Amino acid sequence: MNKTVYSWGHTRPFNSYAHYIQSKFGTRIQKISVHGNFTCPNRDGTKGVGGCSFCNNDAFITAYCTPERSIAEQIAEGKLFIKQRYKRVNRYFAYLQAYSNTYAPLSRIQALIKEIQAFPEIIGVIIGTRPDCIDNEKLDYFAELSKQYYVVIEYGVESVYNKSLDAINRGHDFACSKNAIYATAQRGIHVGAHMIIGLPTESEQEILASAHIISELPITSLKLHQLQIVKNTKFADDFSKNPEQFSLFTAETYIPFVANYLTYISPHIMIERLAGDSPRRVRIAPNWEGVKYETFVQKLEQYMLTHSLWQGKNIHKSIEI
Ligand code: SF4
Repeated sequence: MNKTVYSWGHTRPFNSYAHYIQSKFGTRIQKISVHGNFTCPNRDGTKGVGGCSFCNNDAFITAYCTPERSIAEQIAEGKLFIKQRYKRVNRYFAYLQAYSNTYAPLSRIQALIKEIQAFPEIIGVIIGTRPDCIDNEKLDYFAELSKQYYVVIEYGVESVYNKSLDAINRGHDFACSKNAIYATAQRGIHVGAHMIIGLPTESEQEILASAHIISELPITSLKLHQLQIVKNTKFADDFSKNPEQFSLFTAETYIPFVANYLTYISPHIMIERLAGDSPRRVRIAPNWEGVKYETFVQKLEQYMLTHSLWQGKNIHKSIEI
């Protein structure tokens, strides 16, 4: 049976970022998480002190990635860690994931990038940050860097709705995300955006409608995470007092929902991640125990193919809120 080849040039029903990276570099590239020992304005008192309601950085920091280790030690241990699973991988991106990795003077960011660039097997850097932690000076530097190094600036956007951004104590509004995204893309830098699916302030229709808003932005790649309640967060407290206010996706309910969501996402946006998987040590709910990410993605793709759904199918369809 002939398979449909979509506008993004392959048969997966969404525009896969992994496929793009494989084609661009001719091989699999793994990310090594690097802790640059930054903090966050939503934790140090500049914007707030408690952090975002969902955030516990322990939920995604890998064991080797701690600020007590030097950058060289983190990279060496990260490579060993990755080699246990992907023996043939020999090229990497450094992933500055923890906290806000542009929340420092430019000179400190430049010094960190220089340290990373001393490793020739690291062929690019992904910089996770908040949209209010970037400025023209830093963007001009990253634009220059991106002429000879693969650079992605990944913004935590989380929601397009200010009512949600207020409710999660984010400390910036959606206009701030939009401005940062445009300023970054206009300089030719790849832009990643991270969104949370399932915030308690948003109906399912609102989440679907947000896909239209995201699709109008000049972003390169999109990461989606279903809302997860993790320990030591404001949401964990709220959940213990009143779990009914959260309507959390199970793996079974998330697949049809996210499949539908993708039909409203423009085909030009590459999909980098579709779900999160907090480690058991911090996870409270929902319980996706035993659901491996790769299996989840296979099931999602199968669902999309079976139901004749693909990314962008409904891009021109309006959504009633
Ligand atoms: S999600 Fe990012 S911005 Fe929010 S508290 Fe955590 S590190 Fe800070």
